[in-house]
Amino acid sequence: MIILESVSEIRRVLKDTPGSIGFVPTMGALHMGHEALIKKSKIDNDVTVVSIFVNPAQFNDLKDFKSYPDTFKEDVEKLKNLGVDFIFNPKASEIYLEEDNIRVSDIIESKLIEGEKRPGHFDGVLTVVLKLFNILNPDRAYFGEKDFQQLSLVRKMTKSLFLNIEVVSVPTLRDEKGLPFSSRNQKLSSKGLKAAQEVAAIFSQSTSKKDFIDKFKNMKFSHEGIDLEYVEEQWGRILTVYKVEGVRILDNRELKHENSH
Ligand code: AMP
Repeated sequence: MIILESVSEIRRVLKDTPGSIGFVPTMGALHMGHEALIKKSKIDNDVTVVSIFVNPAQFNDLKDFKSYPDTFKEDVEKLKNLGVDFIFNPKASEIYLEEDNIRVSDIIESKLIEGEKRPGHFDGVLTVVLKLFNILNPDRAYFGEKDFQQLSLVRKMTKSLFLNIEVVSVPTLRDEKGLPFSSRNQKLSSKGLKAAQEVAAIFSQSTSKKDFIDKFKNMKFSHEGIDLEYVEEQWGRILTVYKVEGVRILDNRELKHENSH
Protein backbone atom coordinates (compact mmCIF):
# COMPACT_ATOMS: atom_id res chain seq x y z
CA MET A 1 0.00 0.00 0.00
CA ILE A 2 1.34 3.41 -0.99
CA ILE A 3 0.47 6.64 0.86
CA LEU A 4 0.79 9.83 -1.17
CA GLU A 5 0.18 13.47 -0.28
CA SER A 6 0.84 15.37 -3.45
CA VAL A 7 -1.39 15.80 -6.47
CA SER A 8 1.47 15.46 -8.95
CA GLU A 9 2.78 12.25 -7.34
CA ILE A 10 -0.54 10.41 -7.22
CA ARG A 11 -1.28 11.47 -10.80
CA ARG A 12 2.07 10.17 -11.98
CA VAL A 13 1.69 6.84 -10.19
CA LEU A 14 -1.91 6.23 -11.28
CA LYS A 15 -1.09 7.09 -14.89
CA ASP A 16 1.24 4.09 -15.02
CA THR A 17 -1.16 1.77 -13.20
CA PRO A 18 -2.91 -0.69 -15.50
CA GLY A 19 -6.55 -1.78 -15.06
CA SER A 20 -9.65 -0.13 -13.64
CA ILE A 21 -9.45 2.29 -10.74
CA GLY A 22 -12.05 2.38 -7.94
CA PHE A 23 -12.11 5.46 -5.73
CA VAL A 24 -13.53 5.81 -2.21
CA PRO A 25 -13.50 9.39 -0.88
CA THR A 26 -13.50 9.66 2.94
CA MET A 27 -12.72 12.11 5.70
CA GLY A 28 -10.98 9.41 7.75
CA ALA A 29 -11.95 8.11 11.22
CA LEU A 30 -12.83 4.97 9.33
CA HIS A 31 -15.58 2.58 10.42
CA MET A 32 -17.58 -0.36 9.01
CA GLY A 33 -19.55 1.91 6.67
CA HIS A 34 -16.35 3.01 4.93
CA GLU A 35 -15.18 -0.61 4.88
CA ALA A 36 -18.31 -1.66 2.96
CA LEU A 37 -17.54 0.90 0.24
CA ILE A 38 -13.92 -0.23 0.05
CA LYS A 39 -14.83 -3.93 -0.14
CA LYS A 40 -17.20 -3.20 -3.03
CA SER A 41 -14.50 -1.24 -4.84
CA LYS A 42 -12.04 -4.11 -4.32
CA ILE A 43 -14.49 -6.53 -5.95
CA ASP A 44 -15.28 -4.24 -8.90
CA ASN A 45 -11.82 -2.88 -9.75
CA ASP A 46 -8.17 -3.81 -10.26
CA VAL A 47 -6.92 -0.94 -8.10
CA THR A 48 -8.57 0.84 -5.16
CA VAL A 49 -7.65 4.36 -4.05
CA VAL A 50 -8.99 5.76 -0.75
CA SER A 51 -8.67 9.45 -0.03
CA ILE A 52 -8.50 10.73 3.52
CA PHE A 53 -9.15 14.44 3.43
CA VAL A 54 -11.14 16.51 5.92
CA ASN A 55 -12.45 19.02 3.44
CA PRO A 56 -12.57 22.50 5.01
CA ALA A 57 -14.88 23.86 2.30
CA GLN A 58 -17.78 21.65 3.34
CA PHE A 59 -17.86 22.68 6.99
CA ASN A 60 -20.16 25.57 7.75
CA ASP A 61 -19.21 25.27 11.43
CA LEU A 62 -15.55 25.89 12.28
CA LYS A 63 -15.88 24.10 15.64
CA ASP A 64 -17.15 20.98 13.87
CA PHE A 65 -14.19 21.13 11.45
CA LYS A 66 -11.61 21.59 14.20
CA SER A 67 -13.05 18.80 16.34
CA TYR A 68 -13.49 16.30 13.49
CA PRO A 69 -12.04 12.97 14.72
CA ASP A 70 -8.55 12.14 13.44
CA THR A 71 -7.45 8.48 13.71
CA PHE A 72 -4.96 8.44 10.83
CA LYS A 73 -2.68 5.71 12.23
CA GLU A 74 -5.56 3.32 12.86
CA ASP A 75 -7.05 4.20 9.47
CA VAL A 76 -3.81 3.23 7.71
CA GLU A 77 -3.79 -0.14 9.52
CA LYS A 78 -7.41 -0.81 8.52
CA LEU A 79 -6.76 0.11 4.90
CA LYS A 80 -3.68 -2.09 4.79
CA ASN A 81 -5.71 -5.04 6.12
CA LEU A 82 -8.43 -4.41 3.54
CA GLY A 83 -5.88 -4.60 0.73
CA VAL A 84 -6.21 -1.00 -0.45
CA ASP A 85 -3.57 -0.04 -3.03
CA PHE A 86 -3.25 3.73 -2.54
CA ILE A 87 -4.13 6.26 0.14
CA PHE A 88 -4.33 9.85 -1.02
CA ASN A 89 -3.91 12.12 2.01
CA PRO A 90 -3.33 15.67 0.77
CA LYS A 91 -2.95 18.86 2.79
CA ALA A 92 -5.69 21.46 2.26
CA SER A 93 -3.19 23.73 0.46
CA GLU A 94 -2.64 20.97 -2.09
CA ILE A 95 -6.34 20.86 -2.99
CA TYR A 96 -7.30 24.52 -2.59
CA LEU A 97 -4.85 26.73 -4.38
CA GLU A 98 -4.16 30.29 -3.32
CA GLU A 99 -7.16 32.54 -3.96
CA ASP A 100 -9.12 29.51 -5.08
CA ASN A 101 -12.69 30.76 -5.05
CA ILE A 102 -14.03 28.31 -7.59
CA ARG A 103 -17.03 26.33 -6.31
CA VAL A 104 -19.31 23.80 -7.95
CA SER A 105 -22.97 24.11 -7.02
CA ASP A 106 -26.41 22.81 -7.68
CA ILE A 107 -28.68 25.80 -7.45
CA ILE A 108 -31.82 23.96 -6.31
CA GLU A 109 -31.22 20.68 -4.49
CA SER A 110 -28.16 21.84 -2.58
CA LYS A 111 -30.35 24.44 -0.86
CA LEU A 112 -32.89 21.89 0.40
CA ILE A 113 -33.11 19.82 3.60
CA GLU A 114 -29.51 19.25 4.78
CA GLY A 115 -28.38 22.09 2.51
CA GLU A 116 -30.84 24.46 4.14
CA LYS A 117 -29.42 23.65 7.57
CA ARG A 118 -25.80 23.82 6.39
CA PRO A 119 -25.47 26.67 3.89
CA GLY A 120 -22.62 26.09 1.46
CA HIS A 121 -22.06 22.51 2.60
CA PHE A 122 -22.96 20.84 -0.67
CA ASP A 123 -20.99 23.38 -2.72
CA GLY A 124 -17.96 22.32 -0.68
CA VAL A 125 -18.77 18.64 -1.20
CA LEU A 126 -19.28 18.89 -4.97
CA THR A 127 -16.18 21.04 -5.36
CA VAL A 128 -13.90 18.62 -3.55
CA VAL A 129 -15.43 15.58 -5.27
CA LEU A 130 -14.87 17.13 -8.70
CA LYS A 131 -11.30 18.08 -7.78
CA LEU A 132 -10.60 14.53 -6.55
CA PHE A 133 -12.22 13.03 -9.65
CA ASN A 134 -10.02 15.19 -11.85
CA ILE A 135 -6.87 14.33 -9.91
CA LEU A 136 -7.45 10.57 -9.73
CA ASN A 137 -9.45 9.96 -12.89
CA PRO A 138 -11.16 6.83 -11.53
CA ASP A 139 -13.43 4.46 -13.46
CA ARG A 140 -15.82 4.08 -10.52
CA ALA A 141 -16.44 6.07 -7.34
CA TYR A 142 -18.21 4.77 -4.24
CA PHE A 143 -20.66 6.71 -2.04
CA GLY A 144 -22.88 5.69 0.87
CA GLU A 145 -26.66 5.98 0.93
CA LYS A 146 -26.16 7.22 4.48
CA ASP A 147 -25.52 10.67 2.96
CA PHE A 148 -28.41 10.36 0.57
CA GLN A 149 -28.55 13.94 -0.62
CA GLN A 150 -24.80 13.96 -1.19
CA LEU A 151 -25.08 10.80 -3.28
CA SER A 152 -27.92 12.31 -5.29
CA LEU A 153 -25.98 15.54 -5.93
CA VAL A 154 -22.78 13.70 -6.92
CA ARG A 155 -24.80 11.66 -9.41
CA LYS A 156 -26.35 14.84 -10.82
CA MET A 157 -22.97 16.56 -11.12
CA THR A 158 -21.44 13.54 -12.85
CA LYS A 159 -24.28 13.48 -15.38
CA SER A 160 -24.44 17.24 -15.90
CA LEU A 161 -20.69 17.65 -16.45
CA PHE A 162 -20.43 14.51 -18.63
CA LEU A 163 -17.88 12.91 -16.33
CA ASN A 164 -16.81 9.49 -17.47
CA ILE A 165 -17.12 7.97 -14.00
CA GLU A 166 -19.61 5.42 -12.72
CA VAL A 167 -21.08 6.44 -9.35
CA VAL A 168 -21.78 3.34 -7.26
CA SER A 169 -23.90 3.51 -4.10
CA VAL A 170 -23.73 1.28 -1.05
CA PRO A 171 -26.56 0.81 1.52
CA THR A 172 -26.12 2.24 5.01
CA LEU A 173 -24.23 0.03 7.43
CA ARG A 174 -25.67 0.03 10.96
CA ASP A 175 -24.62 -1.28 14.35
CA GLU A 176 -26.54 -4.09 16.06
CA LYS A 177 -29.08 -1.55 17.37
CA GLY A 178 -29.71 0.03 13.98
CA LEU A 179 -27.66 3.21 14.47
CA PRO A 180 -25.73 4.12 11.29
CA PHE A 181 -21.96 3.96 11.70
CA SER A 182 -20.53 7.47 11.54
CA SER A 183 -17.17 9.05 12.34
CA ARG A 184 -18.92 11.58 14.56
CA ASN A 185 -20.33 8.76 16.77
CA GLN A 186 -16.83 8.61 18.30
CA LYS A 187 -17.62 11.90 20.02
CA LEU A 188 -20.52 10.35 21.98
CA SER A 189 -20.20 9.15 25.56
CA SER A 190 -21.45 5.61 26.20
CA LYS A 191 -24.71 7.09 27.55
CA GLY A 192 -24.99 9.30 24.47
CA LEU A 193 -24.44 6.33 22.19
CA LYS A 194 -27.22 4.42 23.96
CA ALA A 195 -29.59 7.38 23.56
CA ALA A 196 -28.72 7.68 19.85
CA GLN A 197 -29.52 3.98 19.45
CA GLU A 198 -32.89 4.56 21.12
CA VAL A 199 -33.74 7.24 18.55
CA ALA A 200 -32.47 5.00 15.72
CA ALA A 201 -34.85 2.27 16.90
CA ILE A 202 -37.92 4.50 16.72
CA PHE A 203 -36.74 5.96 13.41
CA SER A 204 -36.58 2.47 11.91
CA GLN A 205 -40.18 1.82 13.01
CA SER A 206 -41.66 5.13 11.82
CA THR A 207 -43.95 5.06 8.83
CA SER A 208 -44.03 8.82 8.14
CA LYS A 209 -42.67 12.18 9.23
CA LYS A 210 -45.67 12.68 11.53
CA ASP A 211 -45.34 9.18 12.99
CA PHE A 212 -41.64 9.78 13.79
CA ILE A 213 -42.36 13.16 15.40
CA ASP A 214 -45.15 11.61 17.52
CA LYS A 215 -42.97 8.69 18.57
CA PHE A 216 -40.06 11.06 19.33
CA LYS A 217 -42.26 13.27 21.53
CA ASN A 218 -43.62 10.29 23.47
CA MET A 219 -40.22 8.71 23.95
CA LYS A 220 -38.74 8.51 27.44
CA PHE A 221 -35.04 8.78 26.67
CA SER A 222 -32.35 7.51 29.02
CA HIS A 223 -30.44 10.79 28.50
CA GLU A 224 -31.04 14.54 28.57
CA GLY A 225 -30.67 16.97 25.70
CA ILE A 226 -31.76 15.01 22.65
CA ASP A 227 -33.11 17.28 19.94
CA LEU A 228 -34.83 16.50 16.71
CA GLU A 229 -33.30 18.98 14.23
CA TYR A 230 -35.46 17.94 11.29
CA VAL A 231 -37.36 15.12 9.69
CA GLU A 232 -38.46 15.33 6.06
CA GLU A 233 -40.07 13.14 3.46
CA GLN A 234 -38.44 13.54 0.07
CA TRP A 235 -37.41 11.34 -2.86
CA GLY A 236 -39.51 8.46 -1.45
CA ARG A 237 -37.39 8.53 1.68
CA ILE A 238 -37.64 9.73 5.24
CA LEU A 239 -34.60 11.82 6.19
CA THR A 240 -33.64 13.06 9.63
CA VAL A 241 -31.00 14.74 11.75
CA TYR A 242 -31.16 14.51 15.52
CA LYS A 243 -28.66 15.80 18.02
CA VAL A 244 -27.24 13.90 20.95
CA GLU A 245 -24.66 15.62 23.19
CA GLY A 246 -24.36 18.25 20.47
CA VAL A 247 -23.42 15.64 17.83
CA ARG A 248 -25.55 15.73 14.67
CA ILE A 249 -26.73 12.25 13.71
CA LEU A 250 -27.84 11.96 10.11
CA ASP A 251 -30.00 9.10 8.88
CA ASN A 252 -32.44 8.24 6.12
CA ARG A 253 -34.21 5.24 4.75
CA GLU A 254 -36.75 4.26 2.15
CA LEU A 255 -40.28 5.25 3.08
CA LYS A 256 -42.42 2.16 3.26
CA HIS A 257 -46.13 2.84 3.09
CA GLU A 258 -48.20 1.16 5.76
CA ASN A 259 -50.35 -0.67 3.23
CA SER A 260 -47.50 -1.63 0.88
CA HIS A 261 -46.40 -5.27 0.58
P1 AMP B 1 -17.26 10.46 5.30
O1 AMP B 1 -15.91 9.98 5.70
O2 AMP B 1 -18.21 10.61 6.46
O3 AMP B 1 -17.22 11.68 4.41
O4 AMP B 1 -17.91 9.32 4.43
C1 AMP B 1 -17.25 8.80 3.30
C2 AMP B 1 -18.20 7.92 2.54
O5 AMP B 1 -18.64 6.85 3.38
C3 AMP B 1 -19.47 8.66 2.08
O6 AMP B 1 -19.81 8.24 0.77
C4 AMP B 1 -20.50 8.21 3.09
O7 AMP B 1 -21.83 8.25 2.59
C5 AMP B 1 -20.05 6.79 3.35
N1 AMP B 1 -20.57 6.34 4.65
C6 AMP B 1 -20.45 6.96 5.85
N2 AMP B 1 -21.08 6.26 6.81
C7 AMP B 1 -21.63 5.18 6.21
C8 AMP B 1 -22.42 4.07 6.66
N3 AMP B 1 -22.77 3.94 7.94
N4 AMP B 1 -22.82 3.15 5.74
C9 AMP B 1 -22.45 3.28 4.43
N5 AMP B 1 -21.70 4.29 3.95
C10 AMP B 1 -21.30 5.23 4.82
